[in-house]
Amino acid sequence: MIYCRTCRTVWPTGTVYCGKCQGSLGVRICPSGHSNPRFVTACLTCGKPELSKYAPCLRIGCLSQVLAWLVALTLIRFGIAHVGSLLLLVWGMFEHLFAFLFQAQFRDVVRNAMGFFVEAAVILGFLHLALGERARPLFTLYRFVDRSVRLCLRWFVVAVKALVRRV
Ligand SMILES: [Zn+2]
Ligand SMILES: [Zn+2]
Repeated sequence: MIYCRTCRTVWPTGTVYCGKCQGSLGVRICPSGHSNPRFVTACLTCGKPELSKYAPCLRIGCLSQVLAWLVALTLIRFGIAHVGSLLLLVWGMFEHLFAFLFQAQFRDVVRNAMGFFVEAAVILGFLHLALGERARPLFTLYRFVDRSVRLCLRWFVVAVKALVRRV
């Protein structure tokens, strides 16, 4: 968009002459169509002295792009400066939500679950050494529990995502 400052009118991008004051927007144009800067008395290309009336203008498309860049850069700078605290905030909210929903600290639950699985794996390993092939059903059971827990976790993540999306 081009804004003619003489008659305060907006024209589409690419407009050469103002449709209201008949000035050429941002340039002075000679009869052969050459564009010239504002402060010339003859065309810089062909020397003809008959130049169009100059209309001061603002190219708003350009301006809005610069503004958009400035806003984006500011946001990025703000984001980089505060990414740590933002993440901490989100994490804190998640922990609060988890504690509220399950009456337990998330990190305790994860620690307990991981501890349980590591212990179970170690015990199963010993059993396997001791019993050999006869321990196979235990492994099947372990795998079943492991798969169920994973499924529960996946469902939990899906539920949290759905909650977040609704908010
Ligand atoms: Zn105008
Ligand atoms: Zn010319």
